[in-house]
Amino acid sequence: MADQRKKLATNVVGDFFVDSTCINCDTCRQLAPATFREMGEYSAVYRQPETEPELQDSWRALIACPVGSIGTVKKDKTSLQEAMASFPLHLEAGVYYNGFNSEKSFGANSYIICHQEGNWLIDSPRYVSHLVEAFERMGGIRYIFLSHEDDVADAARYARHFKATRIIHEEDAEAMPESEWLVRGNEPVVATPQVQFIPVPGHTAGSLALLYDQRFLFSGDHLWWDRDEHGLDVPSVLVWNEEQLRNSTTRLLDYSFAWVLPGHGERIHLSPARMKEEMQQLLRRRFKVNQQSVL
Ligand code: SF4
Repeated sequence: MADQRKKLATNVVGDFFVDSTCINCDTCRQLAPATFREMGEYSAVYRQPETEPELQDSWRALIACPVGSIGTVKKDKTSLQEAMASFPLHLEAGVYYNGFNSEKSFGANSYIICHQEGNWLIDSPRYVSHLVEAFERMGGIRYIFLSHEDDVADAARYARHFKATRIIHEEDAEAMPESEWLVRGNEPVVATPQVQFIPVPGHTAGSLALLYDQRFLFSGDHLWWDRDEHGLDVPSVLVWNEEQLRNSTTRLLDYSFAWVLPGHGERIHLSPARMKEEMQQLLRRRFKVNQQSVL
């Protein structure tokens, strides 16, 4: 629970506030950009929510915050419960964002795909009874896809509870050595007619993306939308191998997708044609790849 005594001076006066336990993970800024902004080494409330959608977003940020750094002066149990009930948050088709980001993965986002042949958990949220019960109502979890070693969080507990198959690349398998399915090498794997694993080494040696239905790219920490650049971006720090990072990014030009759903950073939904253009721009901007090679 956030502590008013630790309230940051950078918050504007009003009901919502951030305290000094903030780890600056960006989750609140993704969920409620009209309320939260980075100020120095922390997030803070730069504008109190006014409209109903802004209030809902801010309550969701409070719940998703991995370290409980967001608080309200007034207690509003109804709004809190409504925000909690909205997780997993529906995005499109059978795809949801789970909320309840975990400190163990530095606040990485996780997702669930609901599918008639078994649901897929993509990286792991905090293990909380609200999500366990929600996943049970959705039909359980058959697979847990781990994009890379940093974002496993509570995957072992979810796997135990749902008897799910954990999937990780062998190069990152130290983070979850008891995983039931190790992806080996650098070739894409067609797991089901709608699910493909795409090795994207660069940030880590075993980074993987998952492409669902040729529409949703779950990109781990390989690729995200940068709100300041107004474009796609890849890591510039914490890079295991820069050349592999470039090759992995180039490889994604071979695929069509409309959503990028990252662990860290903003998710983005564009038309597939616009997404392709954004990928080409990223390659030119970040890796100085020439025009011809990205067409
Ligand atoms: S979600 Fe919480 S920890 Fe993350 S930046 Fe916001 S206040 Fe800080």
